[in-house]
Amino acid sequence: MQILNTNTGKGILTRGLTEKEAMEKLKKHGFNELKKKNKKSPTAIFIEQFKNLMTLVLIGACLISWFFGEKADSITILAIIVLNSILGFIQEYKAERSIEALMELSAPGAKVVREGKVSYINAKYVVPGDLVIIEAGDRIPSDGIVLESTGLMVDESILTGESMPVEKSSRNSDWVYMGTMATSGKAKIVTYSTGMNTEMGKIASMLQDIPDEFTPLQRRLEQLGKYIVAVCLIICAVVSITGILRGEDPYNMLLTGISLAVAAIPEGLPAIVTVALAIGVQRMYRRNALVRKLPAVETLGSTTVICSDKTGTLTQNKMTVKKIYVDDKIIEPQGNRFSSTESLKFLFTASSVCSDAFYEERMMSEPEATGDPTELAILKAAWSSGIKKSNLNKEYKRIHEIPFDSNRKRMTVVVRRKNGESFVFVKGAVDVILDLCTKYYSARGERIMTSMDRKAILTANEKMASSALRVLGTAYKKFDGILDNNSIEKNLTFIGMMGMIDPPRPEVAKAVETCIMAGIRPVMITGDHKLTAAAIGKELGILTSENQILTGNDLDKLNDNQLKKASANTAVYARVSPKHKLRIVKALKSLGHTVAMTGDGVNDAPAIKEADIGIAMGITGTDVTKEASSMILLDDNFSTIVAAVEEGRIIYDNIRKFIRYLLSCNIGEVLTMFLASLLYLPTPLIPIQILWVNLVTDGLPAMALGVDPPDRDIMFRKPRGKKESIFSHGLGFKIIMRGIAIGFGTLSVFALMLYLTYNDIIRARTCAFASLVLSQLFFVFECRSEHRSILRINPLTNMWLALAVLCSLGLLLMVIYVPFFQPIFSTVPLGWIEWVIVVTMSFLWTLLSIFTTRKKK
Ligand code: ATP
Repeated sequence: MQILNTNTGKGILTRGLTEKEAMEKLKKHGFNELKKKNKKSPTAIFIEQFKNLMTLVLIGACLISWFFGEKADSITILAIIVLNSILGFIQEYKAERSIEALMELSAPGAKVVREGKVSYINAKYVVPGDLVIIEAGDRIPSDGIVLESTGLMVDESILTGESMPVEKSSRNSDWVYMGTMATSGKAKIVTYSTGMNTEMGKIASMLQDIPDEFTPLQRRLEQLGKYIVAVCLIICAVVSITGILRGEDPYNMLLTGISLAVAAIPEGLPAIVTVALAIGVQRMYRRNALVRKLPAVETLGSTTVICSDKTGTLTQNKMTVKKIYVDDKIIEPQGNRFSSTESLKFLFTASSVCSDAFYEERMMSEPEATGDPTELAILKAAWSSGIKKSNLNKEYKRIHEIPFDSNRKRMTVVVRRKNGESFVFVKGAVDVILDLCTKYYSARGERIMTSMDRKAILTANEKMASSALRVLGTAYKKFDGILDNNSIEKNLTFIGMMGMIDPPRPEVAKAVETCIMAGIRPVMITGDHKLTAAAIGKELGILTSENQILTGNDLDKLNDNQLKKASANTAVYARVSPKHKLRIVKALKSLGHTVAMTGDGVNDAPAIKEADIGIAMGITGTDVTKEASSMILLDDNFSTIVAAVEEGRIIYDNIRKFIRYLLSCNIGEVLTMFLASLLYLPTPLIPIQILWVNLVTDGLPAMALGVDPPDRDIMFRKPRGKKESIFSHGLGFKIIMRGIAIGFGTLSVFALMLYLTYNDIIRARTCAFASLVLSQLFFVFECRSEHRSILRINPLTNMWLALAVLCSLGLLLMVIYVPFFQPIFSTVPLGWIEWVIVVTMSFLWTLLSIFTTRKKK
């Protein structure tokens, strides 16, 4: 028999290692992982804080003060540098570690045979000598030799650069290598080497470190930062030089210039954005979405189409056989049991033998059930008619198989019965199976299939499918002697079909509704029958009209341009293959959509890679799809995608909030000093005051804005445009206007106090300082919403912000009233009239904004 390619039974090599042996080997050989070169140690992260340009400038300022004999200034600047670095360190360390911990969760696993049982373990625990089971879609966890194989094809491009998969067979005792991917077939391998001893380990040190992935926003902000630095440096130079020309102390003016530059340049912005993204990644994880690529967090917020698989994502993937077609009629179970006619028993036998799942009921405990839910449903129904998989396993020996694959939509086995008879059993999509059949089996015996039989089968199939049942047909062939690969699936006899219900997940209809309200189109892509897909689509609210469905056959008839047009209005794609998914993503992208697309099988990887957000299934997904994806759904659930989109929107909103706050405040600070120098006024703030504002009033509240709870309307808005700037919808204008207002306000307080106190410069500066701080602390509450006025937002819904503001306020009073700080910060205690002036001027802009903000429900 030419098809035999299976080399089974190699004594001890079938039972695998014992757990004890594995433990000892793990101690000896270490974890099966490649050493990461670019893992940052805490010390490295701390030292990095001092490499920052602004910190270096501050260190310069510290040395200058020391050189000019201003020791108090010097020590204060040093304290600010240390505080700044500690804050930066804490932020970055937490962000790094939390992302690392999440990455660990998406580490690949391996199916190993130990003590005769197959178990799924984290790949890092695989040891030399371990037997590993490899299936299509698996990432090979270690280097090893193939012991048994059925059509194993491996993509070794990661090692060899060769993009065509190569066949690996037990016949030649072929080697397989860690990190390569099984694209089809099955195999059992024995591990030879692990970790850094593998071929991958040997070249790992030659491989380039994976660079940190920046999001488009981070990159744009870095670019913007450069412009701001240039403008700020010019302004700072003008302030310093005009001060010196006016006859002010050169040391003071030099330090003012430096402090102003430090305060004005939003050097903390990229760091806060990173922290906000990291926090977002954690929040998404809590909602079962594991982000693998940081840019996904940002892109999620602009998603306009979510293309989702049906089985398991929109539905529960808990199948139960509800109807069966044998002997020319549809039968239903009585209670949970099907009556045991001969044809029915044969249908159950054939489809159970052609299954990899296992099901056995127990007297006192839960049934033992492992494997694919579709197959489990078959085995359960068979059990009710007295057909048991464990008995069939003894009766039929599998000698060859062609595993299920979404492209072929069927599974085939060749078996030999104990009595010497040989059979081919095939189960799969009815339309596919029917095309392979020439005969029909019924209680009255086998006959040539007539067109009437064919028609009756298709009608019954449609009837079952339109009541949302997933229908599988089964066929067989008995043969003697030799069968070659090409004739296995030819001239089959149709036995019957089973319709199984897979109820929608209860939370999905609501999630679909949320999507639609949020301007996002949900699209179902399934390998299932058109009518099954339509029934489920309607039930979930995805499909609203019959002409929104396209099938794989329809797709094959459309060219790319026609598909582009059709995809604008298609809500359900049925009977499609993974290759169609790629075309669908491309068509939607060419329409300008930001596409999120789910996938599980190995063949889905190209479409997942092409999508803006590739989403892999955490439970049913293969390693190949997971590695191609930018996000993994830990619960395989559609509503998790919608939750992740919501989180994406929240994060983007929060980033806008603190950018608005930080930039407005920085413009305010620079303008205060710049206008004063243009108007020939003395400098309104001394360097230490500026640095204090930068550290306390800017830093803490901005971080608290990063964790602000969402606006109520977050999922009622249209998605953000793909190329939309972070400053769009008038944000840039708002920032500039508020910056000018803060600048003018602070300067007015300063000038007024100079006038009222007959040039008591220290008092006027204290008032300007307090006014600058207060106007920022009022403003931070406005930044919480772009649409609603401050009066409509409960300040206590963000306790971090309330705390940050209270903390800044306390520190302000401390530097004004505690005698120890007064000489350092050059402040004097203020009287109540001065406070009235300061508070009124600071609140003026907030008051104005209350009247001008559009009222929204
Ligand atoms: P989705 O892409 O939404 O997950 P699906 O799971 O229905 O859809 P596939 O898994 O590609 O899509 O299945 C396509 C068809 O193949 C099914 O409609 C069914 O008829 C058949 N099929 C599914 N599972 C098996 C299996 N284990 N053995 C044989 N045929 C199967």
